Amino acid sequence: MTRQRVVIVGAGFAGLSAARTLGNTPCEVLLVNRENYHTFVPLIHQVATCGLAPEHVVTSIRNLIRKYENIKFITSEVNKINLTSQILEVNNYLIAYDYLILACGSTSKFFGVPGAYEHCFTLKTLKDSVNIRNRILDCFEVGQEEARVSRQQQHLTFIIVGGGATGVEIASEVATLIYGTLIKDYPGLDFSRVRVLLLHSGERLLPDMPRHLSIYAVWQLQRLGVDVQLNSRVIRVTENAVHLEDSRVIPCHTVIWTAGVEGSPKLNQWGLLTNPNHQVKVLPTLQTLEYPQVYAVGDLASPQNQQLPMLAPVAMQQGVTAANNILRQIKGKNPQPLRYQHQGSMLIIGRHAAVANLGKVTLTGFPAWLLWLVIHLVFLPGFSNRLHVLLCWGWIYFSHEHPVRLIFRQDDAVKHQVNKYSHGAVKRWDGYEK
Ligand SMILES: Cc1cc2nc3c(=O)[nH]c(=O)nc-3n(C[C@H](O)[C@H](O)[C@H](O)COP(=O)(O)OP(=O)(O)OC[C@H]3O[C@@H](n4cnc5c(N)ncnc54)[C@H](O)[C@@H]3O)c2cc1C
Repeated sequence: MTRQRVVIVGAGFAGLSAARTLGNTPCEVLLVNRENYHTFVPLIHQVATCGLAPEHVVTSIRNLIRKYENIKFITSEVNKINLTSQILEVNNYLIAYDYLILACGSTSKFFGVPGAYEHCFTLKTLKDSVNIRNRILDCFEVGQEEARVSRQQQHLTFIIVGGGATGVEIASEVATLIYGTLIKDYPGLDFSRVRVLLLHSGERLLPDMPRHLSIYAVWQLQRLGVDVQLNSRVIRVTENAVHLEDSRVIPCHTVIWTAGVEGSPKLNQWGLLTNPNHQVKVLPTLQTLEYPQVYAVGDLASPQNQQLPMLAPVAMQQGVTAANNILRQIKGKNPQPLRYQHQGSMLIIGRHAAVANLGKVTLTGFPAWLLWLVIHLVFLPGFSNRLHVLLCWGWIYFSHEHPVRLIFRQDDAVKHQVNKYSHGAVKRWDGYEK
């Protein structure tokens, strides 16, 4: 009997969990990811703020799947899938599958705010975090040379839009970097001209958490030097300013947009039913409504029976469930619904401060901070990554210095691309080298 072929698109938390569950089982698995590494997204805000080096929050995917004989990996962005004929295009090869798991994650959502897409930084990928790091450091380099006060203030105003978990985390890290480390790097600069603003359209930060944690977050951010402005809806972003609904205009060059997340418009093009947030509608078993052999998991999935938060544990549990359901289908059994176990959520807000919502128990301050550090360290893949991250955290803790203060620009043009792929007929992936 031929082995059933499973293709997994995306090697984030969901895709990787699915692949590992299918590892060393009697099916052939092809994992496809845009990059050749897995990104530990919960730490990228520390890359954006010079705390960690990019290579310490990623792991080679080949390394992660090495022990599974039946898993092959290809670095590629999947753009074309024909769900009716069960074929997708990978690096110009057409590949047929028996089962498909879509685990492509989410993208930033701009709510149609003019100029937001063009002028804002987002924080979803490793590249985003390096772009933010470059910009913050660039602004200080330019700002210190600028003689005109208004222009200098514009360079030294950093706006974060969105008071959810990502916005609060990045705002606290930007302030810690500036008032802890950069203040020593630029002794001639008047730091009263620096502003870190967190703009949030709602009446309280962290709307998904209990109210007392929102109040704590505001208090802690203000202690760090963040100007928290609630009920402040951004209606337009230009190259030089942010415009608010109440007619205020804040001159600035750096806007980090964390106000929303959504699935991908690609999903509609592939013929899948999505909700208004561009997430694939799936059954409780995580199968898509139209194709029982196609699963959607992680941030891009919207289960019909329950609304789940966009969190790594949700993605991982969904990946495992989808993989197990495929194994059940192969054996002729019915797929089972996801039994999600909520493990809580937490975020760090600077030194000795974090909030943790663990269901009936909530924590703030030092205990939450310690728990955040331990959990992120334990879940970060790779021993050497853990060691490096621990060293960096120790360095920052004792020296009050963010170690990775590099402006590192990458040339976007791929100069020496080797095109070894050809257009062609449907092909199995057995020929690929692992
Ligand atoms: C700054 C930040 C901090 C966060 N902190 C936390 C936290 O502390 N705790 C927590 O639980 N959650 C946190 N989250 C949320 C968490 O990271 C996501 O819920 C989780 O990453 C979702 O996993 P996923 O597998 O669905 O997507 P991802 O982890 O985003 O993985 C998607 C993968 O698919 C690949 N991909 C996308 N499109 C294609 C394509 N067309 N072809 C091939 N490959 C493709 C991408 O390259 C990526 O590798 C945070 C998110 C952010 C942005």
